[in-house]
Amino acid sequence: MRSAERVAPPGLEARRIEVRGVVQGVGFRPFVWRLAARHGIAGRVRNASGVVEIHAQGSPDALDAFAAAIAEEAPPLARVEFVTWVPVAVEDLRGFDVERSVDGDGDRLVSADAATCDACLAELFDPEDRRYRYPFINCTDCGPRFTIIEALPYDRERTSMRAFPMCDDCRREYEDPGDRRFHAEPVACPMCGPRLTVLGDTTAGDPIATVAERLRDGSVVALKGLGGFHLACDATDEGAVVRLRERKRRPHKPFAVMVSDVDAARGWFAPTAAELDALTSWRAPIVLIAAARSLAPSVAPGFARHGVMLPSTPLHHLLARAAGRPLVMTSGNASEEPICVTNGDAVERLASIADLVLVHDRDVVARYDDSVVRVRSGETAPTVVRRARSFAPTPIDLATDVPPTLGTGALLHGAFCLASGGRAFLSQHVGDLDTEESMAAYREALDRFREVFRIEPEIVAHDLHPDFMTTRFAELLGLPRVAVQHHHAHVAATMAEHGLEGDVLGLAFDGLGLGDDGTVWGGELLVCSAAAYRRVGRLRQVVQPGGDTATRDPIRMALAHAHDAGVFGSAVDRLVAPPALVDVVARQIETGLASPRTSSAGRLFDAVAAIAGACRSASFEGQPAMLLEEAVRETAAAGPPPVMTRLDDGLLELDTRPLILDAFEPGDVAARFHAGLAALITGGAIRAASDAGLDRVVLGGGVFQNDVLTSALTARLTAAGLRVFLPIQVPVGDGGIALGQVLVANATKERI
Ligand code: ZN
Ligand code: ZN
Ligand code: FE
Repeated sequence: MRSAERVAPPGLEARRIEVRGVVQGVGFRPFVWRLAARHGIAGRVRNASGVVEIHAQGSPDALDAFAAAIAEEAPPLARVEFVTWVPVAVEDLRGFDVERSVDGDGDRLVSADAATCDACLAELFDPEDRRYRYPFINCTDCGPRFTIIEALPYDRERTSMRAFPMCDDCRREYEDPGDRRFHAEPVACPMCGPRLTVLGDTTAGDPIATVAERLRDGSVVALKGLGGFHLACDATDEGAVVRLRERKRRPHKPFAVMVSDVDAARGWFAPTAAELDALTSWRAPIVLIAAARSLAPSVAPGFARHGVMLPSTPLHHLLARAAGRPLVMTSGNASEEPICVTNGDAVERLASIADLVLVHDRDVVARYDDSVVRVRSGETAPTVVRRARSFAPTPIDLATDVPPTLGTGALLHGAFCLASGGRAFLSQHVGDLDTEESMAAYREALDRFREVFRIEPEIVAHDLHPDFMTTRFAELLGLPRVAVQHHHAHVAATMAEHGLEGDVLGLAFDGLGLGDDGTVWGGELLVCSAAAYRRVGRLRQVVQPGGDTATRDPIRMALAHAHDAGVFGSAVDRLVAPPALVDVVARQIETGLASPRTSSAGRLFDAVAAIAGACRSASFEGQPAMLLEEAVRETAAAGPPPVMTRLDDGLLELDTRPLILDAFEPGDVAARFHAGLAALITGGAIRAASDAGLDRVVLGGGVFQNDVLTSALTARLTAAGLRVFLPIQVPVGDGGIALGQVLVANATKERI
């Protein structure tokens, strides 16, 4: 320092500035270079071990302004966590250099995949631009990342762009710190980059035009996108949508719809300001939005809301414009299989579904579905429903550091979590984990995470359920294991996102999770910390006739709940239940044969949905509950008053019978049920919180995807002076449970 002061011209200082956060693959170094030019700063910048290191020299005022601008004006995809600096010796240098990356073992944070930015979009549709209509245009502010990254540090050589040597023009942009494409690893142009092909098409026509024409004619098209294949068809053509449903073997589950731009989104749907923000964000997720005009009825049968997205890649932009109408965009697979990623895969598995297959020659390194978000009523920030493209693998910061840990997740909405130090990398959604194919995709994604983030787990956490494939997978790893109760993990996941420590009252409501007493849980009040839980209350237990069968056949749950409430006969009449089924269910209720007892809130929704006539048979998990939520009309309905019983073992039982009896009364059953259930849970929560002296209420479980229930519950709990925590970045359902497992595994001492 002293010697530096001697040689430095008066007023000249030097600082070593370090920037941490998401600073790789986001155009950070050229951004620093531009700032340096603006503030008259000399020096250099480089990426080292995931930290951006800057040597900067100039006047103290200029240096202060420069450092402040680094945090304030960071590029859109960057997330600056810390800017720190120390004074260093002034060197004899002029100008500002951008140096090569240095690999190290620090944070390995690269931005997730980002939707096409405005600048690239303008070039895409500019006839004068050399990338006019080029389906793979991108820059440092947008484009593919983890869908093409094989390893870090993030360099073209370690991505599937390796196969495309840059042409001279692209290289010039790539090497120019003043260019928007400086070190944009996937940079490409029509001369040097990936190309589209319509399989089996021998004409030399424009693939986009060919595909758009076939879409307008009612064809089903498979197209290779960013994280795998999509299946697309005209969303206004009922015949096309029905064909897609039949071939994909997906009878009811709503399809997402892609529209070309914001104007089209406003024309077909009625987005709120917050929904519009989510829709146009750099993540371009699927957003649940109310429809304004009718699409083909089979796009989302029975739903007023649609999953809507804007194009997230230049290819999708070109296609959406050329088609000139909303397109169904669903993952390229047969129902619930992993999404197809390779061209060969697509030919084999999608040939029977699609009339036409559009491919390109860049490999998809990691499978990513589209993400789904929802703006809850009264909120402005969207909540993640399905965490995939552009959300994963951005880490969640933990309140306490953990050793390298793997949480394997549960069964449905599979996702794992790999954590180390203060960061938890929750994987993208990998589908329901009930087949060998889906487990293969799961292992593949996990291997990629281990490679990319260099985390080798030392502890593995899994669900308590012994039969889940994720549990068996955990057993085979030969590591110290922790079996985590499902609902404890749900609550812990929410705690992890909010960095909550100590005891909380957890409300865990979902379809199913194995309890520590061998019964099926799903409507639970837990007093818990990350380390331990105590079940203090639950919904009243009923028989689940036929076990899993009941989840596809809500009539079974209606009969079981009606039997419990003493109105079995009325239920048989109301449901016009087939006599054979009534006999079977009656016997199962009596004997308990293959029929566990359950406190599941999901199954309660099934029962009421069937009684209310909202859903008689289900083709996907959660369908009855979703349709019952859709059926709500009255906003100010009151449900039956809550009834609770203190059982002999001290457990608080929330009585579901009044809700069932009320469901047989005329009027807006759906609205009264939601209000009644919210009141019942609130009643239980207030009592349990006061018994335990707690004021923090933490929600977890797929039932809280239901916005009508959740907003009513949150309002009531808040009015009672309780603080309510819901997850935002982490899915509230089983897609987030692996994060909770990681937290519990490191807080508890019980290893297997
Ligand atoms: Zn761009
Ligand atoms: Zn090029
Ligand atoms: Fe669950």
